[in-house]
Amino acid sequence: MTTSDPTPTTFAALGLSAPVLTALSEIGYETPSPIQAACIPHLMTGGDVLGEAQTGTGKTAAFALPALERIDVTRRTPQILVLTPTRELAIQVAEAFQTYARYLRDFHVVPLYGGQSMVVQLRQLTRGAQVIVGTPGRLMDHLKRGSLKLDDLKVMVLDEADEMLRMGFIEDVEWILSHTPSTRQTALFSATMPSVIRSVAQRHQRNPVEIKIKSATSTVSTTRQSYWMVRGHDKLDVLTRILEAEDELDAAIIFVRTKVATDELANKLEARGHAAAALNGDMTQGLRERVINQLKSGQIDIVVATDVAARGIDVPRVTHVINYDVPYDTEAYVHRIGRTGRAGRTGHAILFITAREQRMLRAIEHATRQKIALLTLPTRSEMADRRVSKFKQEVLDILEQEELHFFMEVVGQLRDENELKAHSIAAALAFMAQRDKPLQLDNAKGSDLPTTSEVRAPRENRDEAPNRRRDAADGKLRPYRIEVGRQHGVTPKEIVGAIANEGGLSGGQIGQIHLFDDFSLVELPSDLSNETLATLKRTRVCQQALQIQADDSTPMPAKRFGTKPGASKRPGAPGAPAKKPFKGGKPFIKRPKV
Ligand code: AMP
Repeated sequence: MTTSDPTPTTFAALGLSAPVLTALSEIGYETPSPIQAACIPHLMTGGDVLGEAQTGTGKTAAFALPALERIDVTRRTPQILVLTPTRELAIQVAEAFQTYARYLRDFHVVPLYGGQSMVVQLRQLTRGAQVIVGTPGRLMDHLKRGSLKLDDLKVMVLDEADEMLRMGFIEDVEWILSHTPSTRQTALFSATMPSVIRSVAQRHQRNPVEIKIKSATSTVSTTRQSYWMVRGHDKLDVLTRILEAEDELDAAIIFVRTKVATDELANKLEARGHAAAALNGDMTQGLRERVINQLKSGQIDIVVATDVAARGIDVPRVTHVINYDVPYDTEAYVHRIGRTGRAGRTGHAILFITAREQRMLRAIEHATRQKIALLTLPTRSEMADRRVSKFKQEVLDILEQEELHFFMEVVGQLRDENELKAHSIAAALAFMAQRDKPLQLDNAKGSDLPTTSEVRAPRENRDEAPNRRRDAADGKLRPYRIEVGRQHGVTPKEIVGAIANEGGLSGGQIGQIHLFDDFSLVELPSDLSNETLATLKRTRVCQQALQIQADDSTPMPAKRFGTKPGASKRPGAPGAPAKKPFKGGKPFIKRPKV
């Protein structure tokens, strides 16, 4: 069968239990994705499923949610086993289980993959867990040494089976399958269905229901399509640059996956000066209509929406649809981009995609019968030129349209009282006017805009990164990203204080700090323990959870902060070192230009 039913069902209608439903609503999932709506009912009744689905379709929840319903939490024995091709996917899937099971008491999941210490894994297995997620090699090791017992196994999931085949694990997978109880239920997911995978399914599954993501084809001739390959955490920076750089942009709909994300992103855009609002299924019909009317009338220019909430929006001034989160399938994509290019106008659809989701890009090209081009972002200096000419135009408009008599007088007094030249005063006023959006991007404060290299810096190029970064790595420091930045009003001192107090680090273990608009980079020891990381993830500074994570993809600025020739060196002044060294060590904090 294909996932062709367009009517969105609800998670409750799929028969999921209250604790799982509470977690889903908290995460902000509005409706099941097509693969979830198709798989969950079969898996809930104990049937086998053979699913053709790739990353981005929501396949993890499609098998994890029904699996959770099969678990007996009073027993700490493995009841669900998920096989993944890579360690990254194992961790990701284990995290997804943990998230969906946050209201199931006594629930435990353990990821098992090569490269992690056996001692740690053996300890976790001795403590017991109902769900095991792992890579084939390491799972075999545990089965052979008897540290993993599968007598109580109820569900086995093969995730990304074609990847496991490609990586040469398929014999290991079959070996593991043959060491599980024959009564188990089996779900197999694969982005493609080569014959080898099909025959694995035939040998190890019982009458599986085949589920395939439908790929509707449709021509979208009035819509120009581009994509942006997302690396690291550059999504928001790239989005804001697109919003500023796209000349023909009048109004935009930005699609995200969860209602939580609609609010978060709309707030972030508002904080950056855009007239934006969220549109999601939690809002009453009246409120939703108000937002759409505001978009129609031009009171707002940007709506950040989920698929369900945006269904049927018909606003001719929408020139751009931005797929901030990738759609679940090509059908959803075609629906989304149908919100632009209306009334015979042309529209522009932009798709943000990660390397793992590239298959979806190809599927969309196929479905829309169009090649999707890589988006070209203007360079930093082009952006600066754009800002300068916009600024000049604004000045000319004001000269033409506003009554300036009173202001002429004030400026005249300023000139006479201080023996100044008129154009010096004008320059000072221009400086004041551009503070929020600096005209000189090269020596602008911090990162109002990322440079092209900051945005694009591919991982392979890390060797070319500034020496300082390499030194930091050699000196056992590496950059970590924390989700608090200048717009939250944070100072480096607060960051040092929080990290030192909550993470138990000494000041000497904290390297450079660089503040960006809505996040910061901080150099910390590269071998921070998982416990410290977990604590720091939860730590809040300026009301923001730090959500710390190692980040090698956003280059630390090469220049040291704030020592512009002639800059004030007052303590606390821009460019001066922090006033007092941190107690218990000597922090090397350079304050960014503020
Ligand atoms: P996956 O295809 O399983 O890798 O999922 C891709 C992303 O979609 C993950 O970030 C999920 O959290 C998200 N996701 C999965 N199901 C839903 C849903 N029903 N509503 C919103 N987001 C979802």
